[in-house]
Amino acid sequence: MKIILAQSAGFCFGVKRATTMAFDAADHCHQICSLGPIIHSPQLVRKLEEKGVEVIDRVEDIPEGAVIIRSHGVTAQELDHILARELRIVDATCPFVKKAQEYAAMLSREGYTVILVGEEEHPEVQGIVSYARDGEVFVVGDRDQAEKLPRKKRMGVVAQTTQSFDNLRQIIEVCLEKSGELRVFNTICDATSVRQKEAQAIARQVDLMLVIGGFNSANTSRLTRICSDIQPRTHHVETAAEVDPQWFDEVHTVGITAGASTPRWIIEEVVEKVRTIR
Ligand code: SF4
Repeated sequence: MKIILAQSAGFCFGVKRATTMAFDAADHCHQICSLGPIIHSPQLVRKLEEKGVEVIDRVEDIPEGAVIIRSHGVTAQELDHILARELRIVDATCPFVKKAQEYAAMLSREGYTVILVGEEEHPEVQGIVSYARDGEVFVVGDRDQAEKLPRKKRMGVVAQTTQSFDNLRQIIEVCLEKSGELRVFNTICDATSVRQKEAQAIARQVDLMLVIGGFNSANTSRLTRICSDIQPRTHHVETAAEVDPQWFDEVHTVGITAGASTPRWIIEEVVEKVRTIR
């Protein structure tokens, strides 16, 4: 059976950086926690817990010591709270997310109504919104929501890093009609689209597709949907243990990809398991 493994499978730059910082901090700090799970990989979170990194959801519950800020950042209020408590900060916020936070803050300071293209409930979006402290901010998910925006003299647009370029473009078109002056910062990171395009290309060539990643990982679930649209024999697995040999009847070529928060060792275990299937 031939295996095609996506080159982009697994950690993106920001997640790799955050996990390296977390393991490094675990080796050096006596008392340490992460504010929320560092990434959407239960297996990696467990490894960190074994090294003493506890997952805490609220700043007020952090006992003392050091706190790791995960790759999609925290709200300005949480950061203020952490600073006020004089906790040691290991800031693993992805530099691309930080840029979006800084643009939102700058636009707000300079009197623009901030339009943030993204999913309202996502922690990264809540973080970016919180930095636009000086004026109005609207979170817009799609073109229809943008149509409902009020007219404004000056609008400034930033995007959640994982948004699609097409959605951003459509919302910008609407904002152009609704404002006298429009500034746009394209803060999309291409890690997501690179993974999606490669997964689509592989799904077209294979008899079965495996997508590896946490069941709680939104980007892995999206990859699975994209592959299923092309190759109905697509399975989302979290570890090698879930790979069922019965899936592989009359399969000659298998495609494998993984979400941006899937550790390399899990990808290798899945590849190994597939190799043993005859
Ligand atoms: S997807 Fe992009 S912005 Fe998000 S953590 Fe990865 S590199 Fe950073």
